[in-house]
Amino acid sequence: MSELDILELGQPLLRRKAKPVGDIDTDSCRQMIQLLTEQVTQHQGMGIAATQLGFDAQLFIMCSHPNDRYPDAPNMPITTVINPLILSHSEHQASDWEGCLSIPGLRAKVSRPQAIEVAYTLQDGTQVHTRYDGFLARLFQHEYDHLHGLLFIDRVSSTDDIMTEKTWRQQYASKSRNTAIEGTQHGAAL
Ligand SMILES: [Zn+2]
Repeated sequence: MSELDILELGQPLLRRKAKPVGDIDTDSCRQMIQLLTEQVTQHQGMGIAATQLGFDAQLFIMCSHPNDRYPDAPNMPITTVINPLILSHSEHQASDWEGCLSIPGLRAKVSRPQAIEVAYTLQDGTQVHTRYDGFLARLFQHEYDHLHGLLFIDRVSSTDDIMTEKTWRQQYASKSRNTAIEGTQHGAAL
């Protein structure tokens, strides 16, 4: 396994709780961000967490963008989220299908708070305090979970809500182009 392989379900490092990032302004931090950005771009994901490449760091990349399977996904610049905190969340939960680069071939319906208030640091040291709703709230929570050793399958309430990528495509992808789908035409996802 090369150091660039994305860790997959069953590999212990994926379950590690990551340490906060200390000094952002280092070559090793810049290199980690570059490797993560390359991987998420190459796999056409919407996000990737440092722990998915085996890094012990509370850092993830968000890069939501519309594609033919999710035309309504918000377009955002590639954003490096460092030492994220979820400060509060809505009582209202939303349920939607998720996938994960670390669990290829599987989809599951996951219930999460619809909206969250968050704080994090950008690569240039800027402190961000903002609120995410809908798709971006789901993406943020999915990646945040990775930093705590959690995967989306941990949050599935019923095994009836899990299916293979192939079955999911047959049952859902063709029904509506507006169905909330996190993924790409290549089956990669969050
Ligand atoms: Zn994931």
